[in-house]
Amino acid sequence: MTKVSLVIVDLQEDFLPPNGSLAIKDGRSIIPAINELLYDAKFNWSLILVTQDWHPPNHASFASQHNVPPFTELTFTHPKGEIDPETNEVKTMKQVVWPDHCIQNTPGATLDPSFKECVGDRRESPIIPIKKGHLPDREYYSCFQDCWGLDHTEVLSLLKTNNITDVVFVGLAYDFCVMNSAIDCAKNGFNTYVLKEYSKSVYPENVEETDKKYAENGVKVVNANEEEKLFTDIVAIS
Ligand SMILES: [Zn+2]
Repeated sequence: MTKVSLVIVDLQEDFLPPNGSLAIKDGRSIIPAINELLYDAKFNWSLILVTQDWHPPNHASFASQHNVPPFTELTFTHPKGEIDPETNEVKTMKQVVWPDHCIQNTPGATLDPSFKECVGDRRESPIIPIKKGHLPDREYYSCFQDCWGLDHTEVLSLLKTNNITDVVFVGLAYDFCVMNSAIDCAKNGFNTYVLKEYSKSVYPENVEETDKKYAENGVKVVNANEEEKLFTDIVAIS
């Protein structure tokens, strides 16, 4: 039996114009449509997860911690000092650092108010909040785990215990947290979809490259003209 989960990624003030510290262009424009996914009775979500980036003030992904300008690419070493067997050196990963954002318990970390209201109103199906990014020494994009795959959230066990077969992703950002979350989801064996019209990129100019990464990793990107079919096939109440 098909059981579908909706995962709504990071609709937080710091990612939203006009005042977010890491505002994604047109980020707030997708929220009415996402609210409809919550409200419209035709959608039969078995489980809804709402993720939030949730960093301590000294988080390693903040440029301010490294005295470099935001959007600089830095090399990070493995938090546990794991050795790369090929080079015999500690594993490293290149990552972009960001303006300070989504610091725990600050206004920037809160959800968009209209979305928050919808989440609050929709009590008949389980909505579970997921926070990611609490360990200061590493980046988290995926809602499943940190970028090194060491610290896991409860997402995988929630999907498994609820017998979810298919997962639909929406939210921010198309080229970072949505992408990494969806790729991990597909790797874990779920039929995984991203609704393209319900997401926005940090770097919209690179969208073709982003789409390619989704395709290479087994995630189905659903364009506007394919939404209705997806809804009818897997999430409409029959
Ligand atoms: Zn973050």
